[in-house]
Amino acid sequence: MRDVLPEEARRWRMVERAIVDVLDRFAYEEVRLPLLEAAELFTRGIGAATDIVEKEMFGLSDRDGDSIALRPEGTASCVRALLQHGLLHNQSQRIHYRGPMFRSERPQLGRHRQFHQVGAEAFGMVGPDVDAELIQMGAEIWRVLGIEGEIQLELNTLGCSEARAAWRGALVRYLRPRQGDLDGDSAKRLERNPLRILDSKFPATRSLLAEAPKFADYIDDDSVRHYEGLKRLLDGLGVAYVENPLLVRGLDYYSRTVFEWTTERLGAQGAVCAGGRYDGLAEIIGGKPVPGVGFALGLERTLLLHEAVHGAGAPPPVDVYCCVLQPEHQGVAMARVRALRDGLPNLRFRVHAGGGRLKNQMRRADQCGARWALLFGEDELRENRMGLKDLRNETPQETLGLAALVERLRTAGMDST
Ligand code: ATP
Ligand code: MG
Repeated sequence: MRDVLPEEARRWRMVERAIVDVLDRFAYEEVRLPLLEAAELFTRGIGAATDIVEKEMFGLSDRDGDSIALRPEGTASCVRALLQHGLLHNQSQRIHYRGPMFRSERPQLGRHRQFHQVGAEAFGMVGPDVDAELIQMGAEIWRVLGIEGEIQLELNTLGCSEARAAWRGALVRYLRPRQGDLDGDSAKRLERNPLRILDSKFPATRSLLAEAPKFADYIDDDSVRHYEGLKRLLDGLGVAYVENPLLVRGLDYYSRTVFEWTTERLGAQGAVCAGGRYDGLAEIIGGKPVPGVGFALGLERTLLLHEAVHGAGAPPPVDVYCCVLQPEHQGVAMARVRALRDGLPNLRFRVHAGGGRLKNQMRRADQCGARWALLFGEDELRENRMGLKDLRNETPQETLGLAALVERLRTAGMDST
């Protein structure tokens, strides 16, 4: 589990804000959910035979001996919360959430034990139109972040659960006599979670799969229509996709649409955002059936990609560093800066603390990357003015009153309001 230190946190905030802005402009509403849930929510919701539940969940027991778990993902919690509060009954909902998720995995670049997701979910709508909206929203997020050139969309359909079960049976019947040729993980998955074998990266397994029964021969007509409808909408929206019949996703609850946004810039951790339709999940969790579809975006990987494209630059922590020449003027200076913060809400003002010589204060101003230094000296304060020094240009210091100063900093292009 990693710490996010100030410089990186500034980039996090920028990127998170841009993402949540997009969700907000699509009128998705935010929910804030607990980090701990009953472990059963995940064993039932995600599936006992999935990697997440079998190997990756951080479980603990509370004082009464009940099994609880740090949430490994957000969808099951989101469905649980909306069911519990009666928000899924005869209504549709468009929801987003974000925050830390926990999985006990081997840490590496873009893979951590505490990582962060932004999730979006839509409930109560059965058609491919809302699937398309979620994908469109993803495309918009990459565009706003300026990383759309590095990400591609993979698309597949898993059909209805009956069709999937028939295909799964055929796959097992085909693979069982060839079990000896499978890689170890896939052999283990054969009885418990055979569709996951399609994910295998081992060449021998992959060549066996080339001859395996195809889902296209098992899929139901309604799911075909759903999938065709989705593709037509995406074509109309100009959202490019690659169809990948081997895309199955690691969670049990998906049906029909599944998709993944992937990049080649991050090595093995290429999945930046993943999602799909999960019409059976609400029932599995103990509610009435409610159709749902959504995605979860990995923030760490999005940030790595953003950095790969745009560099690690973050906005400076301070725009204006305020130097107080005499300790007895500290209070006046702080009050003046309060008025400046009101007038220039997009600028960050830091007031020097701890006294000391002007030279040392100016060094602090420089160290924190400030563009301007504001000087509160005896003469300036007497005249109700402040000294302004541009730290990036060799222009002479100016002395300005409050209104003129606000105007000056605003027209310097530092404040967008
Ligand atoms: P992977 O195949 O990389 O393990 P996953 O299929 O387990 O991904 P999901 O459960 O679909 O991932 O989660 C959605 C997104 O969350 C992923 O696409 C990825 O960006 C991010 N993510 C998942 N696990 C981690 C992790 N351990 N560390 C960082 N990000 C992660
Ligand atoms: Mg995983």
